[in-house]
Amino acid sequence: MAAEETIVSVAGGTGIGLVPLLRQVAPFAALFGLAALLPLTHNAYFGLVIGRAAVYWILVSGLNLVVGFAGQLALGWVALLTVGAYTTSVLAAGTALPAISPFLALGAAAAVGAVAGVVVGLPALRLRTFYFAMSTFGFATIVTQIALAWRSVTGGGIGVIGPVFGGPFGSTWGFYYFCLGGAVLATWLSGNVARSRFGRGLLAIRDAEVAAEASGVFKPGLLVLVFLFAGATAGVSGGLFASLQTYITPDAFTFDLSLLFFIAILIGGRGSILGPLLSTVLLTLLPEVAAPLVAWSTFLYAALLLVIVLAVPGGIANLLDFASRKPLETGRIIRPDVSALPVLLSGHAAERQLSFEGVTLAFGGVRAIDGLSFTVEPAAVHGLIGPNGSGKTTVLNVISGYYRPGEGSVRLGERELAPGAAHSRAAAGVGRTFQTPRIVGEASVLANVMIGGTTRGRGTFLEAVFSLPRHRREEAALRERALLALKAVGLEQLAQVRADRLQHSELRFLEIARALMPEPSLLLLDEPAAGLAPDEIALLGGLIIAISRAGVAVLLVEHHTDLVFGVCENITVLNLGRELTHGTPAEIVAHQDVIDAYLGS
Ligand code: ADP
Ligand code: MG
Repeated sequence: MAAEETIVSVAGGTGIGLVPLLRQVAPFAALFGLAALLPLTHNAYFGLVIGRAAVYWILVSGLNLVVGFAGQLALGWVALLTVGAYTTSVLAAGTALPAISPFLALGAAAAVGAVAGVVVGLPALRLRTFYFAMSTFGFATIVTQIALAWRSVTGGGIGVIGPVFGGPFGSTWGFYYFCLGGAVLATWLSGNVARSRFGRGLLAIRDAEVAAEASGVFKPGLLVLVFLFAGATAGVSGGLFASLQTYITPDAFTFDLSLLFFIAILIGGRGSILGPLLSTVLLTLLPEVAAPLVAWSTFLYAALLLVIVLAVPGGIANLLDFASRKPLETGRIIRPDVSALPVLLSGHAAERQLSFEGVTLAFGGVRAIDGLSFTVEPAAVHGLIGPNGSGKTTVLNVISGYYRPGEGSVRLGERELAPGAAHSRAAAGVGRTFQTPRIVGEASVLANVMIGGTTRGRGTFLEAVFSLPRHRREEAALRERALLALKAVGLEQLAQVRADRLQHSELRFLEIARALMPEPSLLLLDEPAAGLAPDEIALLGGLIIAISRAGVAVLLVEHHTDLVFGVCENITVLNLGRELTHGTPAEIVAHQDVIDAYLGS
């Protein structure tokens, strides 16, 4: 299979074969292998610095999912380091409750951190980016103030002693290995999330939120899970940080530290794991190698960030993404293979009719849809045509649940499609494409299509975190299915390519592949032929007919009259949100009003 020998993109890599897997793991193995050899230098100072980098990375690995993958501006994440550090120290020192083992205390810090992560994260579900960034700062301030004020427990400004991990981890190098082990674990766990449907969902929320919802990604639920995870890693990181510091006071948790975590992700590259790992090490080392510059560390971070953002917008991950620099074959031809469709749509749920009944929707004074009714039969293609602004996309948005109609109802089969609840449409059997393709440019074509399979996943978040067997089986099946969908639309050979390298016409077919992933009963296509060459439009027509023959009801919004008249059984003509007429292509072509209002010449 052509896809096997091609390369795995840094973001959203989904390589499973042995060679791609080794290629993915190798840089991490090399990095951690080197770090494991560090004790041979007998240089305790190196141990301290690299140990600190490992501790920071444990936090950044989780935060990376929030910032780099989900695109949430969690600027004040140092708050969770503080929570973890104090939880571990206070429980181990016994200033509040009877002292417990530092290891247990570290576990408690993970739990408290997870809860605090959700508390800090909750505003993200409601607030837009910058307001959320500010709210994380607010939280950081509150935590510091509590640590200062609650003297009996935290020691206030005087501080509290950090936990001392005993046993094999009591020595300097023993503790070093403890932190290193934690960093390896954090890398593995966050990598598992990143490669799962949860990680793909995060990227989709970041870059194509509407498409994510239409694919069944439920943003609030997903974000809560990720905040739990990122909070837990930050809590553990805080406990280790406290031990590393030996003694903690509120001023150990500075704004600089928060900035370091955040900037490490941006410099490393959003949507990557290796990049942020490398830049976390780099940023921890930087003030050390240039010791006189310590006072300038914030300045250094900022300067480095500027340089990276200006010179390599995608960060270190982009620098390392050699695969995406190989030129793609030019003059590529999309070759849909409709023989894959019956298999792809074989488990098809009952064939269902779409009834759009008496729907009215107004935006302020504008009636975008005005008492419109039509039905789409299973295994039929229904055309929706009309001038720009006549309400076609709005009809699709009502069916997809983005808009609540003022009046009327939308049913698929027996079932009413509840107004709103866009994320429930994929499971209800509605797939769609968008007038402007909405994709995750930094993820592979395959990963983009797999996003469409979100609703097929049964494995829980925890199963994904620990890469348990059911999760791995589901991923393999999903991957197989996505390759089949790509074969059906003719993009199989591009499966491993970053989606932002595709041509516009290829993106249109990519969206169809994604929409077919959940085996929809109804497929909504919003101007799929826009920007396609005539021969591509012909291929698209064949593909649409084949999809409908597999039992899917297709609603086609389109301007290319050749395509519409060529593939539709029935057509509704819209004008100013109202039905101008409807009928078979032959009837429409002969209709004088349509000729006047729409077909023009
Ligand atoms: P079409 O897809 O047929 O070109 P649309 O459905 O996009 O048309 O738009 C129909 C009408 O509704 C237009 O007048 C448009 O300006 C208006 N409209 C669409 N979406 C919105 C919105 N979110 N807010 C306000 N007006 C809108
Ligand atoms: Mg439109």
